[in-house]
Formats: sequence, C-alpha cells, structure tokens
Amino acid sequence: MLDLYGSLLERALFPAYEAVRGRPTVPLTRSLAKTERWSTHELRDLQLGLLRRLLRHAYLYTSYYRQLFVERDLVPDDIQSLDDLRRLPLLDRDTVRLTLETRTATAPPHWVIKKSTSGTTGQPVVVKYNAESRHWRDATRWRGYGWGGYRIGMRALHYWGFPPKPESWLKRHKTALDRFLKRDFYVDCTPRSDDALAAVARRIRELEPQVMVAYSSGAAALARFVIANGLRAWRDIPVLLGAERLWPADRMVIEQAFGPAFETYGCREVMMVASECEAHDGMHTSMETMIVEVLVRERDGRMRPARAGEAGEVAITDLHNLACPMIRYITGDVAVARGDAPCACGRGLVRIGPVEGRVTETLRDGMGNAVGGLVFNVLFGVMDHVARKFQVVQKLDGSVIMRVVPNIGDRLPDKEYRAVHDFASKYLPGARFSVEYVDDIPLTAAGKRKVVVVEKPAA
Ligand SMILES: [Zn+2]
Repeated sequence: MLDLYGSLLERALFPAYEAVRGRPTVPLTRSLAKTERWSTHELRDLQLGLLRRLLRHAYLYTSYYRQLFVERDLVPDDIQSLDDLRRLPLLDRDTVRLTLETRTATAPPHWVIKKSTSGTTGQPVVVKYNAESRHWRDATRWRGYGWGGYRIGMRALHYWGFPPKPESWLKRHKTALDRFLKRDFYVDCTPRSDDALAAVARRIRELEPQVMVAYSSGAAALARFVIANGLRAWRDIPVLLGAERLWPADRMVIEQAFGPAFETYGCREVMMVASECEAHDGMHTSMETMIVEVLVRERDGRMRPARAGEAGEVAITDLHNLACPMIRYITGDVAVARGDAPCACGRGLVRIGPVEGRVTETLRDGMGNAVGGLVFNVLFGVMDHVARKFQVVQKLDGSVIMRVVPNIGDRLPDKEYRAVHDFASKYLPGARFSVEYVDDIPLTAAGKRKVVVVEKPAA
C-alpha cells in the first residue's frame, strides 16, 4: 500500500516532473500495460513494423549498415518477416567497438545519451541512443518493476554497487533530485562483512522500505545473515533482483528474510531485457522495445534459434535506437528459450529464463571479509576510454592482480592508475594489489571472459 505522499508522487508529482523534462514515461508505461495483454502474434506484428522502420533508417543513414546490406545484395524491403532478420549478421563486442562512428546515423533523431559498459565480460563498449529509446527504456523498467509490486512513489532501498565517482557536478545534483522525488535510498552492497550486513539490517528496520532492488548475490548474503541472527522485524518486502543470476537456493533465503523475489534481466546496453511476473515462471521479454533472440551455435559455426528448453546465446535488436543502431547484438549472456508457451498470468510477451553466465565470484579483503566481485564491472564500465579488456584475479595467497589490456601505449595513464589503486584500497582493504599489463585476456573453456577469477586450491 502507498501512503499519502507516495500516491501523490505516483499520480501527480512524478508525471508532472517527467512532463516538464519532456519525458513521456507515464503515458508510455500506460501503453505498455495495454500491449503486454496483446497476443504473442500481435506483439510480433508490432515488432516487425518497428524492425522495418529501424532497418530502413540504418540502411539510409549509417555507412556500416548500408555496406552490410550491399555486401549481401539486400535492401531493407527484403526483410519481410522476423525470421528474415537472420539474414543479417550478429554484432559482437569487438565489432561494436570498431563501428561506433560508422553505426552513428547522419540524420535525426540524433543521439542524446552516450555511456559505456563492461557487461559481464570485462570488455567495455560504448553505446549511444536517442531520446525515444531512452523513454522506452524508462517505461519498460517501470513496467517490469511494477510486476514485482514496485510503484513510483514507494520507499525503495537499492542494495547495489556504485561507480567510483559521480561523473559531474550537474549529474550528481540531478541524480540526488531524482532520488529525493522518488524516495530511493542507496546502500552499497559490495562490503559483506558481518558488521556491514548488520548495518544494512539496521537501516532496513529504520527505513521500513516498501520494496528492495538488489544484486542477487548481495541480497542472498544479507538474507542469510538476517536469518542466522533472527533479525527479521518487518512485514513482507518484495525484492527485485538483477545484475546476476538468481539461484534457487538464494531465492529461498531471500523470500524467507524479506518477501517475494522477482528476477530481472537487463544490461546497460539496452536496459530491461526481461522480468519476472507474479507467476514466477521465467521472465517476460520486453517485446515492444526489442527483439530478443536465443541462438545455438552449431558445430560448423552457424547459428540457429534455440528450441524450447534449450540454452543459447542472447542477441538483442533495440527497436527504438535509430541514432546508433544495435542489430542482433550478442550480449555475452546465455539464456534458456521457452518457446511460445503461454504464461499463467495471461501476458502475451514471450518468456526466457533462467539466464546463465551472470555469475560473479566473491573476493576477500585483507581481513578475510567477503566483497562482491561485481563492483569491478562497475569500475571497468567507466574506464573504457583507457583500456580494452580487464580481469581481476585473486591468488591463493589473497593477493589481487588486475590484468589490463591498455587502449593506447603499454600502460594506464597516471590518473586512472591512481583511481584503480584508490578503488582497490577502498573495497579490498588490507589485500595486496597490483596492476599487470597484458596483450590479451584469453576466453575460458566455455568461450566466456570472466571479469573476476578467484583461484581455488587444487582438489
Ligand atoms: Zn507471466
């Protein structure tokens, strides 16, 4: 239930605030609440219309996609169905890096947001997108959060990781205003010592949040601490989990310590890809804003769509980003396809899940306290301008080495080098830390690059 201020925020203040900033978040969220009830067939029709618009724009106004069509002797009108999309190649991270300029459209809508992300691979990429894409991203996130019972105006506790520094004074103040209006409270989930967990439990008792948004491993560590110490002193708090896979055992303790758990799957490149509804049976994809493909790589290297129940690589086409199109972008995650089986909730949005490959290891500081490894993804995401690849390795003796493939020259610039050391002494106090420069960081046997590796004694 929302209190009075909460309902005022939801019904009046937030819509007015968004409208003043020229953002149609509220009407878009209402529109999504209707389209999610469309049949899967109708939703695919909508996707095809948006896809054809995207392809025409990409063909006409970006040199990268123009060349790609020409090489294949295709024009956008040859793409007559969603299956035809497979006539275009996949977009991998290396290509994303190399083609940022040639994928940028020369005609409006121009990009207004540019950000970098390291995803789950420690290999940063830069994405740019236009205002329309941003508005759909916001609306899609609110819709997904809404399925978990999170409405605008609720007192929310975000138990999340943090970038090393706010990017600018202006941005910092804008973010603070956003948080004040929406009543969001942020707690860093990286330190996981008993003292840190006890402090968070105290904060939850004081704040009485109506909802929590958390990293999966962070919420699970906190939940185990709350249960072991008999600290639960609150009514059910729904928990929206993200950034990492939610394991069944973690879901159980989170539900015991807090309340119903809802998994979400997103990435900074496109935001909310899929989220769980009240049926708790897989995650509905955001069909109105993106095409999500789950693809299996055959032995000969060819890709085919995964069958229901089969795991495959996730490729995403962002339907509203005309400014710098990402078509069939390989996210680096692996998800289980679920076919078109209808969900008990009645929504027509196709489901996927579980999503694998979003597993981060836990590091230890010099005192042996647990530290969430995902914090390094956050750090690497803001260092794309100085390095191409990253990896953090904790050795058996507890020392930590950060491997870096620099962008230019053979080392990090002084400023970033210092920032990395400051970051390490903040999050890994007492652990020996060093930076090692390498030419490349090889993939693991599974074809993934792990951002954080914790060496374990041989069995
Ligand atoms: Zn459902």
